[in-house]
Amino acid sequence: MAQVYDKVALIGLGLIASSMFWAIKRNGLAGEVRGYARSEKTRETAREIGLCDVVCDSVLEAVKDADLVVLCVPVGAMSAVAEEIAPALKAGATVSDVGSVKKAVVEAVGPHLPENVHFIPAHPVAGTEHSGPNSGFAELFENRPLLLTPDEKSDSQAVARLRALWEGTGALVEEMDAEHHDLVLAVTSHTPHLIAYTMVGVADDLQRVTDSEVIKYSAAGFRDFTRIAASDPTMWRDVFLSNKEATLEILGRFTEELFALQRAIRTGDGDHLFEYFTHTRAIRRGIIEAGQDTDAPDFGRVKK
Ligand code: NAP
Repeated sequence: MAQVYDKVALIGLGLIASSMFWAIKRNGLAGEVRGYARSEKTRETAREIGLCDVVCDSVLEAVKDADLVVLCVPVGAMSAVAEEIAPALKAGATVSDVGSVKKAVVEAVGPHLPENVHFIPAHPVAGTEHSGPNSGFAELFENRPLLLTPDEKSDSQAVARLRALWEGTGALVEEMDAEHHDLVLAVTSHTPHLIAYTMVGVADDLQRVTDSEVIKYSAAGFRDFTRIAASDPTMWRDVFLSNKEATLEILGRFTEELFALQRAIRTGDGDHLFEYFTHTRAIRRGIIEAGQDTDAPDFGRVKK
């Protein structure tokens, strides 16, 4: 595959950045990739496993010649990182991010950046419950959506270049308005995570069901909840705090539907339950037809 950028800098070296690095290298998408993480420990690990061509001890050193800088830190850390790197950015460079929320990142990062750089937010809709520099793998983005949220002022050539990089990783790139992105993700990712956290918390609270019973009789539904509820606490705290409006709107809808199902169970309204479950089954089929999951039991997930 053709090289898209000469020099790329990845700031933050966790799951997403490490997956980006392995995908960029495997597909020859950049000449040199520099990386920076705030802790010495992560930088050391990165050096040990060959994560990034150069691991820098200073964030300014990492970004200074980069044609593309990607912020791969939790959403709550984006503003401080953007402020720190701003003076060292090369004129004409592109700054992007991989944050799970877009409007808050646009507001946090945009104001710090100089006029002569292109800011194009992005979100790879791909992940696992693992985090840190050892958790990445080159295939993470393959056939997964990658949402770019440029605005009307964005430079079309810079957007096309960033799109080419992500397409080179195997991602399915689409463009979306930042606010709409946050609403869509509140439905498809953020609220489901909150529900999983709650369900696992509830099981933990139930004194009548022992811990060993929960583990021993864990059916696929609950096991999937525990997998999701094992996701990084910092990342998810920041997601909810920065996508407050959309998450609360979807949670309100969720609560109403839950009450309706609760009533149907109490009043023995089997028709309501049957119709509801038939409708949700069709949504699942749609996801499989769109190639976003397999029909295999246990959702066919490859255990890493
Ligand atoms: P991760 O594995 O936990 O790695 C986060 C990295 O950010 C680490 O290198 C960490 O440095 C650094 N970091 C944390 N707090 C920081 C701070 N205050 N200042 C500077 N650096 C800081 O996280 P990840 O899963 O790759 O997530 C990174 C971004 O991708 C987040 O914005 C998240 O919303 C987004 N995202 C995640 C997923 C997912 O499923 N995980 C999916 C799509 C998008 P140290 O190691 O030195 O602590």
